[in-house]
Amino acid sequence: MSKAKNILLINPWIYDFTAYDFWLRPLGLLYIASLLQKYTRFRLHLIDCLSRRHPALEKIIKTKPDGRGPFLKKEVPKPSVLKEVPRKYSRYGIPIELFLHELEEVPFPDLVLLTCTMTYWYPGVQLVVELIRRKFGQVPVVLGGIYATLLPEHARSTSGADVIFQGMGERGFLPLIREIFGDGYSPDIQVETLDEIPWPAFDLIPGQDVLPVLTSRGCLFECSFCASPLLCKKFEQRPPSSVVSEIEYHHRRYRTQNFAFYDDALLLKKENHIVPLLKGVIQRDLSVFFHTPNGLHVREIDSELASLFKKANVQSLFLSQESTDAGVLAKAGSKVSEGDLERAIVHLERAGYRRQEINVYLMVGLLGQTYSSMKESVLHVQRLGAVPRLAYFSPVPGTCEWKDLVKGGYIAQDADPLLHNKLAFMFLMGDISPRDLKLLKELTDEKKGQAAVS
Ligand code: SF4
Repeated sequence: MSKAKNILLINPWIYDFTAYDFWLRPLGLLYIASLLQKYTRFRLHLIDCLSRRHPALEKIIKTKPDGRGPFLKKEVPKPSVLKEVPRKYSRYGIPIELFLHELEEVPFPDLVLLTCTMTYWYPGVQLVVELIRRKFGQVPVVLGGIYATLLPEHARSTSGADVIFQGMGERGFLPLIREIFGDGYSPDIQVETLDEIPWPAFDLIPGQDVLPVLTSRGCLFECSFCASPLLCKKFEQRPPSSVVSEIEYHHRRYRTQNFAFYDDALLLKKENHIVPLLKGVIQRDLSVFFHTPNGLHVREIDSELASLFKKANVQSLFLSQESTDAGVLAKAGSKVSEGDLERAIVHLERAGYRRQEINVYLMVGLLGQTYSSMKESVLHVQRLGAVPRLAYFSPVPGTCEWKDLVKGGYIAQDADPLLHNKLAFMFLMGDISPRDLKLLKELTDEKKGQAAVS
C-alpha cells in the first residue's frame, strides 16, 4: 500500500419547497466510508450539510424525542422553471458559513466524493462543487447516489463533478480508487452482497442518537411509480443475526436509542427475515426504538408480526397502502389487496397499538387519480381510526409512470430535473388542481379531518 491520502465525503444541501429530517442520514456515503476504512489507508473526513447535530447548531435546532425534526433553512430565489409554483423555495441544511468553516478545518483532499438523492436536489451538488473548486481548485470530484445513477448525462453536463459514478457503491468504488490513484491504493477485491459491506462508518457523523439500519435492498414488486426496481436489480436480504449484531453494536458503542429501517421491503419473506430479526432484538433485551419511514407492506402484517413489533418497540408505524381505490391499485402494482389494510390494523390493535398510532401512506397525484378517489381513500383510513399521510407523487425517470407521463405529453424526456419535484409536478403538470390539493390537506388536518368523518 502507498502512503495515506485524504478523501472528503460530502452530503450536499437540499433545495426544495419543503424538507424535514425524517430520520435522514447519508447512509450510502457512510457505507462507502466503511469500505474505505476497511480496505484502504485513506484518511476520511465527512461534511454533512444536512446535519442537525453539528455542535455549532445544538442550541438552535429542535428535535423530537424520536429523533425527527426540522432542518435549518434559508429561503432562496426560485429557479425560473419553478417560478409559477406558489410556494417558497429554500436551501435546507447548515449555513454556508459553517460549511466554509468546515472546509477550513479539513486537510487538503486528494479526492472529494459527493452524493445526491432526489434528481431535483441537484442545485445542492452544484453549490458544493463550486465551493470545493474555490477552495481546493481542480481536486478530483466524484458524484454518486440516485441522481447520478438515474440521470448520468444531466449530472455529467451540469454538476461540475469529474466522475459520475452510477449504481451500487460497493461494486465499483474500490476499482475506481485504483483507476484514479493506482493499484497500490486499494486491494483488488470484489464485494458482492450487502452483508459483505462493513457496517456504516457512523464514527464520521456527529450525534448517533438516531441511526439508520438497512436489512435488505430492492423489492420483489414493481410498482409503476417506484424507483426501487431500477436502482436494485435484485432483491437481497442480510442474515437477521448479522443485523441484530449490528444494532446491538451501535446501541452499545454510541448509546443509540432510535433506529430507522431504511429498507424498501422490510417485511418480505418475513419468516426468514423480519420475524427472526425482531425475535433476536427481543432476546437481547435492547432498550431501543424502531421506526419505519419507508412504509411497510400491509399484506405481511399478521398477528405474530404485529406482536413482535410491539415487543421489539417498533414505535412509529407507517403502512404503505397508497390508495383504497381498486382501479388505482391495479394500475400502480399488486402489493395490496382488498381487506389487507383492515386486517393489518386489527392485528396491530390486538398487539397493543392504538389506531391513532398507525400512519397510512396514501399517494396523491398519480396520473388518472381523481379527487374523489383520493378523498375516499383518506376518509376510508380515517373511518378505520388510523392516520392518513399524504405522499405526493413525483415523477422518477425510468419508472412506468414516468414513461406514461412522457408519452402523454405531461413532461419532456429531457425536462429540467427541477420539474421532477413533487410540488412542481403537482402545480405545473399534474391532473390535480391546487384547490383539490388544499381540500385534501384540510381533510388530513387532524381536527378538520375528524370533523369530516363524523
Ligand atoms: S412495493 Fe414499495 S418498494 Fe416495492 S416497488 Fe412497490 S413502492 Fe417500491
